[in-house]
Amino acid sequence: MEELWVAIGITLLTVMLYDAIFGSSIPRVPVPSGRAYRIDSPPGNGLVTPELAAELRRVLEKFAMDAGFSESNSVGIFFKPGVVGHHKFGRAADIYAVGGLGLDMWKQRWNKAMAGTVQASDTGARQRIADEERKRNLGWRLYKALQLFGRWAQPYGYPIQLFGPWTRTEGPWTYISDPLLQAHRDHIHVAK
Ligand SMILES: [Zn+2]
Repeated sequence: MEELWVAIGITLLTVMLYDAIFGSSIPRVPVPSGRAYRIDSPPGNGLVTPELAAELRRVLEKFAMDAGFSESNSVGIFFKPGVVGHHKFGRAADIYAVGGLGLDMWKQRWNKAMAGTVQASDTGARQRIADEERKRNLGWRLYKALQLFGRWAQPYGYPIQLFGPWTRTEGPWTYISDPLLQAHRDHIHVAK
């Protein structure tokens, strides 16, 4: 199962309530390309509410600009459709790749670089390796931009709806369970 009901923070009752109230009447729009980033996936992979589309556009642009991309050299973003929880209402989106590389691959690179810091000769060298990785790892940079600049849903009694490969170490919900972390080892989930 891609994601777990309880873990996503939406109960069956709430889902039924949403279904009854909103049905499929909420308009869905694809997340638009920006200036410094472009959406590489088919529009149908990321059909969301206008509110979520606007939030993603704002944060993705900030991420891309900060990472040094521009109109003439934009960075690609790839969505895949989700099916459960907030996805049913267009209130969630799953990002699987950035800069032509899967989030799982970015995480592998990250792990490898951080393992390298352990072997480094001194504190300065360790710091340099870590700093360098934070600069060039687009997966990590994207996750941090979404965390720092995005305003995501937080259903009452549930954690902020931002999950990805870095959630346990970077937050916001460092108590993320093993199954939920495993479910997000290859993508970043946001809901609004
Ligand atoms: Zn998702």
